[in-house]
Amino acid sequence: MTQLDGLTRERMSEQLELLMTKYRDIQSQGLQLDMSRGKPCAEQLDLSNGMMDVLTSRDNFKLQDGSDSRNYGGVDGIPEAKELFSQMLGVSPKEMIIGGNSSLNMMHDTLARAMLFGVLGSDVPWSKLPKVRFLCPSPGYDRHFAICELLGIEMIPVDMLQDGPDMDAVEHLVRNDESIKGIWCVPKYSNPEGITFSDAVVDRFANMETKAPDFRIMWDDAYTVHHLTDEPDGLKNILEACTAAGNPDRVFIYSSTSKVTFPGSGVAVMAASEANIGFIRKQLSAQTIGPDKQNQLRHVRLLRNMDGIEQHMKKHAAIIKPKFDTVLRMLESELGQLNIASWSKPNGGYFISLNTPDGCAKAVVNMAAAAGVVLTKAGATYPYGNDPRDRNIRIAPTFPPMGELEKAIEVLCLCLQIVSIKQLLQ
Ligand code: PLP
Repeated sequence: MTQLDGLTRERMSEQLELLMTKYRDIQSQGLQLDMSRGKPCAEQLDLSNGMMDVLTSRDNFKLQDGSDSRNYGGVDGIPEAKELFSQMLGVSPKEMIIGGNSSLNMMHDTLARAMLFGVLGSDVPWSKLPKVRFLCPSPGYDRHFAICELLGIEMIPVDMLQDGPDMDAVEHLVRNDESIKGIWCVPKYSNPEGITFSDAVVDRFANMETKAPDFRIMWDDAYTVHHLTDEPDGLKNILEACTAAGNPDRVFIYSSTSKVTFPGSGVAVMAASEANIGFIRKQLSAQTIGPDKQNQLRHVRLLRNMDGIEQHMKKHAAIIKPKFDTVLRMLESELGQLNIASWSKPNGGYFISLNTPDGCAKAVVNMAAAAGVVLTKAGATYPYGNDPRDRNIRIAPTFPPMGELEKAIEVLCLCLQIVSIKQLLQ
């Protein structure tokens, strides 16, 4: 194979005809493959089936603090779960709230409350301000952006670099604009690029000067234990860094067991300074008498301790690493020599991020859909669904069985070649 842009127009047209024949053949196969969301596969879900057995009717439901897990109470979660998840996030149990089944729900509610009441230290509810803006390192997680859109928070994209967001841009923007109240971050094995923020980036976040005194970092550490290798990326502790910098209240940390145990019936957690937690706990107690403590107890019994979580995650990695390896191998063999695409090679998380030539991602995704392969919508990884270079495609390798995954990537690579050649011929 040669680089596509090194071919004559005639050779390109011939190549296009060959690829189109292949495409029409695939179209006639009536494929129905869905690669659109990062979900665990059934084999991964099976790893946590023991959850159903760890709490039975003959059990002792008494918690560490003497209360009964079956009854009302404990608005910020059971002590056992605080202890377990505080180890996972490197914070103290006093700096945690253990919530319901979804960290996205906690993030949404945090910002909804900020709009209604402000956060600790706000002069006024954010919604009373003429404008509230958020920085959105991009490509990023589409559901973060959807929360901002819903709440009328204006989004400002910031480029992602190899070690985290473009901190020169971030520092400049937050230093000069009081309406910028926060930033979204997926600091470890980021969605979709698999980037882990460097220590220097974490320190710059902790120390940067912000014009808004009530600026918040939404630190979504969703993939903190989701390693794909035996040499996990390390992430500097942001809460410690913020505290050391004299900005202890700057960060809200989130995570969950959605991709450790069961999405939809996992346990979500939030960590922040004790002052922040106290402020939020009071608000939460008007919303609920308490979360699902039985589910929290089940999780503690199944996962036990940090070692238990790590062992469990190794079993996940054993199932999904071959899928990541397959995608990477196919991208390399189908596209490696063509000089039309680049992609991430993550050490963890749930995604591979693929960049096409500028102006091609939408066409590639549409063409794959017309052949029965549904990918994440092009543009979804940018605020307002608008990828300014129309080049980013998020690949989610975990859910499909291997055979379907291979077929889907074959179709993706084929469509990418066709669209790229068509663009070169224009
Ligand atoms: N945060 C990130 C970065 C994610 O990728 C996802 C799911 O894909 C979530 C949060 C959802 O978390 P939860 O299931 O805890 O709501």
